[in-house]
Formats: sequence, structure tokens, C-alpha cells
Amino acid sequence: MNETAPKIRLHVETALAEGVEIPLDRGQSNYLINVMRLEAGAILALFDGSNGEWRAELTNAHRKGATLTVRDRLRVQEPLPDLHLLFAPIKKARTDFIVEKACEMGCARVRPVITRYTQSERLKLDRLRAHMVEAAEQCGGVNVPDLDAARPLLEVLAEWGEGRVLIFCDEARTAPPMLDALADVARGAPAALLIGPEGGFAPEEAERLHAHPATLPVSLGPRILRADTAAVAALALAQVALGDWSA
Ligand code: SAH
Repeated sequence: MNETAPKIRLHVETALAEGVEIPLDRGQSNYLINVMRLEAGAILALFDGSNGEWRAELTNAHRKGATLTVRDRLRVQEPLPDLHLLFAPIKKARTDFIVEKACEMGCARVRPVITRYTQSERLKLDRLRAHMVEAAEQCGGVNVPDLDAARPLLEVLAEWGEGRVLIFCDEARTAPPMLDALADVARGAPAALLIGPEGGFAPEEAERLHAHPATLPVSLGPRILRADTAAVAALALAQVALGDWSA
């Protein structure tokens, strides 16, 4: 980012274009006026997840209902690598961590899956999405990953086409190391990572996964990683081998 880039970046739901006026809700107004102490005329950066990043001016600095006016475009929308993350929800704080990191790591779609050993904690999608938005604001990205509602793994698997490789992170560690396994997959090919819950995959799930034509079983090294660690490690390797971490 250059020196003149606005210091504050916010995600907004409004489609951004020159001249658009964005009324802010109470929480956002409070943040900008009372917490960040901005005054009318202040410049910030906005992104909406589809139209890149825009410079905006605080044109009405009312504490309870401020308004931003969109000026010029700072960056065009950059597409994300076509990488999904399927993970079994774990404890709240660790699930928050996974979705936040998925966003920072440039994952396009986050898809919680319920597996046999998934602890049946209900997911609060609004909260998880808020975490992703915050992560996107901080990491300078112009995308917020899509977030699906949780679905049973076997159902997802039954509908899975062959067009997207399903990189199955198998704690059995008998599969080839992930980078070796990905050597034959073309950069940019649609891909998805699958990470199991703390209890790992049930034998019948592993069997179904191994039998599926889209599945590529991989190992993440000799140690058993916690699910949150495994998610970040696998996202990093996927971005190196298939995504935007190298040319
Ligand atoms: N309790 C299980 C481990 C689960 S680890 C056991 O003891 O076998 C949680 C998830 O992280 C796993 O389901 C897998 O998807 C991933 N994972 C952890 N370590 C891994 C490794 N070395 N290789 C591949 N996947 C791994």
C-alpha cells in the first residue's frame, strides 16, 4: 500500500460506484466518529467484495448516522484462486480461527461439513461472517469468502462432480505429502480442501472418500496436527501449488 492510501478500510454491503452515498448504521457511525475520531472530510477506503476498493469521504459526521460518499476507485476487483475449504466445525474459538485464517489465506468459499465425529455445536453464521469481514478489512484483501451453512459430509460428497479436486487431508498419513500429490494438478484448477474434526474421520467416511473419483488423499507431514493447524497448513500449501502464492 502506498503512503497516501487511506488508513481505515471498511467492508460495506452497498455496491460501490462513483458518487454512491452510503448511510452508515449506528455501530459503524460510532466506530468512525467516536472511536476513530474522524471528522467530515476524512478519507477512507471501502470494498464490497465485488467492485474493488474505492476512496470514500465522510460527508456527514453524525454520531448516530454518518454518511460516506464514494469518490474514485483505488483498486479493481481481483479474483481469488478457486479454492474452497471444507472443515468440520470444532470448538467455537477454534472455528472462529479457521474462518478468519481462511479469509486471510485467500480462500474463495468456506463450507462447514458435519462428519460423524463432529461435535454438534450450532454454527452462528452471522458471527463467522463478521469474523471474515474483519479479517478481510485487516489483511488488505478485496474479497470476503462465501460462507455456506453446514451440511453433512456424505451428502456433499454424493453431489460432488469430478471437476473440482477434493484434497482429502487424511490423518492416517499413508497418502503422499500434499505438495507431491498436487504436482499433477494444474495451477488454477478448481480445488477444495477437506479437514476433519478433532476426532478425525470415521472409517466409513475415509472409505467413501478414498472411493470417490475426485478425491486426492494427502498427508500433512509426520505429526498429527490439530484441525485448526491443519487447515492453515493445507491452505498455505494449496496456495503455493495451485493458487496465488507463486507465479
Ligand atoms: N484424532 C485424530 C486426528 C484428527 S486431526 C487422530 O488421532 O487420528 C484433525 C484433522 O486434521 C484430521 O481429520 C485431518 O483432516 C487433519 N490432519 C491433522 N494432521 C494431519 C496430517 N499429518 N496429515 C493429513 N491431515 C492431517
